[in-house]
Amino acid sequence: MQILRMKIRPLTQQRRLLLDTIREVGRHLDAKELYRRANEKDERISLATVYRNLRLFRDQGIIEERHLRRGCCCYEMKRSGEHQHLVCLSCGRVIEFKSPLIHKLVTEVQRKNRFLVARVDLCMEGYCHECKEERK
Ligand SMILES: [Zn+2]
Ligand SMILES: [Zn+2]
Repeated sequence: MQILRMKIRPLTQQRRLLLDTIREVGRHLDAKELYRRANEKDERISLATVYRNLRLFRDQGIIEERHLRRGCCCYEMKRSGEHQHLVCLSCGRVIEFKSPLIHKLVTEVQRKNRFLVARVDLCMEGYCHECKEERK
């Protein structure tokens, strides 16, 4: 992780552990879950440390903040390629999707509203396939 080393100075042991944990989980975890997992590995890590570093990682563009559930921020590693989210209201599963239509939508929205869109954070709530079947 050459890039990270350059960006975060100093890359302390705790910061490395937090980043490794975010990467391990793969995607979409909130501060409390990150705290729980990181604290299992290093009990000196406090919730305040987690919050502080999440803000730092976000400001440095290493992770992205997503508002996937009401009143709750989720974080994921920044990856190339924009994607949007579907959130299941029943089991909490998060599904990522991409669609070329979003680009069209942005173009139209920009034109009609004379607004430059810098970031799209689209989240649709509903029921995943399994939960939908159960509700029948
Ligand atoms: Zn579900
Ligand atoms: Zn995502």
